[in-house]
Amino acid sequence: MAAGKAYKIATLGSHSALQILKGAKDEGFKTLVIATPDRVTLYSRFNFIDKILEIPTFTDFPKIEKDLIREKVILIPHGSFVAYLGLEEHKKMKVPYFGNKAVLDWESDRLKQREWLEKAHVPVPRRFKNANEIDAPVLVKAYGAAGGRGYFFAKNKKEFKSKIKNFKPKNYIIQEYVIGVSAYVHYFYSPLSKKLEILSIDRRYETNVDSLGRIPSHNQRGLGIEPSFVVVGNSPLVLRESLLADAFEMGERTIEASQKLMDGGLWGPFCLEAIITPKQEFFVIELSCRIVAGTNLFINGSPYSALYYDKEVSTGRRIAMEIKKAIKTRSLNKILY
Ligand code: AMP
Ligand code: AMP
Repeated sequence: MAAGKAYKIATLGSHSALQILKGAKDEGFKTLVIATPDRVTLYSRFNFIDKILEIPTFTDFPKIEKDLIREKVILIPHGSFVAYLGLEEHKKMKVPYFGNKAVLDWESDRLKQREWLEKAHVPVPRRFKNANEIDAPVLVKAYGAAGGRGYFFAKNKKEFKSKIKNFKPKNYIIQEYVIGVSAYVHYFYSPLSKKLEILSIDRRYETNVDSLGRIPSHNQRGLGIEPSFVVVGNSPLVLRESLLADAFEMGERTIEASQKLMDGGLWGPFCLEAIITPKQEFFVIELSCRIVAGTNLFINGSPYSALYYDKEVSTGRRIAMEIKKAIKTRSLNKILY
């Protein structure tokens, strides 16, 4: 594959870099990882990584942009890009980038994200604009909080009023706490074939909320345990088949709405993070516009990606397949920013 030989696929060394680069290599690309000194040994263990570019810290990334452009790199963003580079730095990058940066402003602002989901008729948990409206258990989320930190749970208005006194962040949202199980659906939308695939599904494993049920409530009484949502890992999930129809339609509507709201809309991997209630209704608590860490469970494919492909296709590999197709059909401009 001549085209694949010319372009290198690269990402930052963290989050889902191993999956992305393994997938790229399986599709015949040269691969490159940008790593901080503490992670060079980790990435040198794997022979599907052709080159390691070392930088002192992730914030030094802009200094190597020229080198990356010279290397003919296509950069694949993941969860660490915004976390470590910051939104503005991320938007300014000039290295060819897989995905649409126009989605970043919509995704990073919780209220805009909600507007997007509402336009897509994707059900979201109710939001209470002020304390007096609270008539259900709530989760209070500070703006910019991630990975389940910076949240608190209140079972009613009274508890909210007492807990908010000790909550430091000034900007937060009050959301109904949806009681159900979580399911994080990993989608891939191809701007080349205009098709949406569900590649895999995971659920997050969060401490301590995912273990509170191990201690009966009568034993918990008096301990003063507060639920927390700090993610420590992910486990695989397959959905009851009848729920899949809803999952596909929600994903399709998310894409359609994005095309109306932002120039070019959303493409590539994304994730709807949902809670499913006993009535089998999905409530989407968050939208992630890139590869999520839960896809790392499926480096050798998943029960869903096997329905489309006769090879082991992870989200990382699916990205490389899209790039390869775009190179072959001279349509890289449709998928890179
Ligand atoms: P790390 O790979 O630990 O450097 O994480 C990079 C970023 O991805 C951090 O912002 C984490 O909060 C996020 N992250 C890492 N692993 C997960 C996961 N399993 N689920 C959700 N977010 C994650
Ligand atoms: P987030 O950072 O918004 O993805 O939320 C982190 C975790 O908090 C999720 O994985 C859920 O376990 C939990 N969570 C967030 N919002 C809600 C909600 N409205 N109802 C129930 N659980 C929630």
